[in-house]
Amino acid sequence: MENDFDVIAVSPHPDDAEIGCGGTLAQLAEEYRVGIIDLTNGEPTPFNDDPEIRIKESLEAAEILGIERILLDLPNRTLMDNINSRLKLAKVFRQTRPKIVIGMQGTPQASPDHYQSQLIFDAAIFYSRLSKWEHKFDDLPPWRIKHAFYYFTAREMLSITQPLQFIVDITKEFELKKQALLAYKSQFRAHHSYNPPIVDWIESMGLYFGSMAGIKYGEVFYGRKMLNLNLFKEFLKTENSH
Ligand SMILES: [Zn+2]
Repeated sequence: MENDFDVIAVSPHPDDAEIGCGGTLAQLAEEYRVGIIDLTNGEPTPFNDDPEIRIKESLEAAEILGIERILLDLPNRTLMDNINSRLKLAKVFRQTRPKIVIGMQGTPQASPDHYQSQLIFDAAIFYSRLSKWEHKFDDLPPWRIKHAFYYFTAREMLSITQPLQFIVDITKEFELKKQALLAYKSQFRAHHSYNPPIVDWIESMGLYFGSMAGIKYGEVFYGRKMLNLNLFKEFLKTENSH
């Protein structure tokens, strides 16, 4: 269908999904329809006085990655997992009917918005598939999302307890990821003395996760369920093709 997406990443603020999984999104976008849902506009921030500037930057970043972008108008800094937030995100899931969704692995030690975004994400996946609730979603029918995963960003706690973890090789897409983040001049470029050295962070994160998988740059993903995957056959296929 015309509104259908293959993959949707959910971002508390414009730039978080790029930090966590920008390389993977760019890679998937070569073959599939990929989008980011920003839960908030991310503003205010210390050095940006105009929310429109951040929106423009986020659209530039999306263009660099080859993806689309949807902005929900949930409140920045006071983002909360509540019925309104859950329904809003679930409604977009029903509209865009993604096969795979990727949310942030937010932890309470970092930004409260990040942690809340994860709670909203989990609930919205559930609300998206609930029957007899069409009246809450402008008559949109239920949509069952088959695969949900989580991306990791700098400042969050690295989880080693999730049942499923895997690394995606983004060596080819690393430069695109870097460019997409540098599009956020109001966040990362204009005030080097104060702002976090984002390029250093994503470089070291990428190399660190890459080193775990024997590749150059990687992005890590978590899953919360066991999956029915016969990786033995995949490995043998790759081995045999060498
Ligand atoms: Zn954020």
